[in-house]
Amino acid sequence: MFKSYIIDGPVIPKTRSHGISSAILERFEELGGEAWMSTTVKKIIVRDGTACGVELDNGDIVDCDYVISNSSPYNMYTKLIDGRNIPKYQIKKLNSVKLAPKGFSLFLGLDKSAEELGIKNHSYFIYDTADTAKQSQLTRSRAGNNMQAAVCLNNGLPDCSPEGTCILYITALFTGDNAWDDITEENYVAAKREFADRMISNFEKATGTKIREHIEEIEIASPVTYARYLDAPNGTIYGFENTGSYGIVSRVATDAMGKKINHLYYAGGYGSKSLGYSPSYTTGYEAAAAVLKNIEKEAGVK
Ligand SMILES: Cc1cc2nc3c(=O)[nH]c(=O)nc-3n(C[C@H](O)[C@H](O)[C@H](O)COP(=O)(O)OP(=O)(O)OC[C@H]3O[C@@H](n4cnc5c(N)ncnc54)[C@H](O)[C@@H]3O)c2cc1C
Repeated sequence: MFKSYIIDGPVIPKTRSHGISSAILERFEELGGEAWMSTTVKKIIVRDGTACGVELDNGDIVDCDYVISNSSPYNMYTKLIDGRNIPKYQIKKLNSVKLAPKGFSLFLGLDKSAEELGIKNHSYFIYDTADTAKQSQLTRSRAGNNMQAAVCLNNGLPDCSPEGTCILYITALFTGDNAWDDITEENYVAAKREFADRMISNFEKATGTKIREHIEEIEIASPVTYARYLDAPNGTIYGFENTGSYGIVSRVATDAMGKKINHLYYAGGYGSKSLGYSPSYTTGYEAAAAVLKNIEKEAGVK
């Protein structure tokens, strides 16, 4: 992701990021692939150390020669695969890594154009301090967390919303695992709204704009939302923490180490290429290439 930002430069698809997913799906189906939406995998079936199918939540079994999972290794090794089939090395590896920051997002539809509101930029990164260690400490709790990344899509894609309106989305990140520990069913909605309210104030303060009275539509996604809809462990939106002994260099260098389940591959942001949209595409490509290579190898093709 970093390389593509710096070397190639960022681009915004006219049909937004969803357009990329739709285009990939279209081509996949053109080539004979079949995609089942709203279908949950309950189990990855492993026999004699080799993945050989999946069980869906409706009980259907799909037999196959290879499984590429886009559900995280965290989910694979804590609930999708029976413990007795998981190599010890993989369990040790999972226990040695930490989860990356958890996401909290606001999606706002505003009833004035970006220009009228004085929102001049596409992206704003707003922090309490440039001391990253200190900032990382502050984002461990709701009370201390005032960082945010805000994007006004209209400043890259002017006609993404009707004339005289604009879209703004703001994301805050929570480090550590305890920022939402005190939440119960009873206080969840109030806590979520309170934090969202502060994010709006923080945006106004940092940019000198007034957006609050122009909010026509609002959706709030907390770490709980990401956990619920994506089955993202603890609501992380960035996979495993990309620091220390699990930085990208050591991930790539150690990827081939240790016993693995045969014919089981992973594609997505928790893998060797770390997080972001682009690693999701490249790891998908790499997993498919590895499967093809293995098929040739097992068939004895040189
Ligand atoms: C608000 C926000 C802003 C972001 N901004 C950027 C950005 O600007 N640039 C960037 O590069 N990245 C950004 N990211 C991060 C990027 O979205 C992720 O790194 C990327 O989506 C991870 O892709 P993934 O395929 O690993 O996981 P996901 O996108 O989470 O996909 C996993 C999929 O698997 C499904 N799934 C899970 N378990 C099962 C199961 N058992 N059965 C069936 N399906 C299952 C989930 O429902 C989900 O659809 C952002 C993320 C968020 C939330």
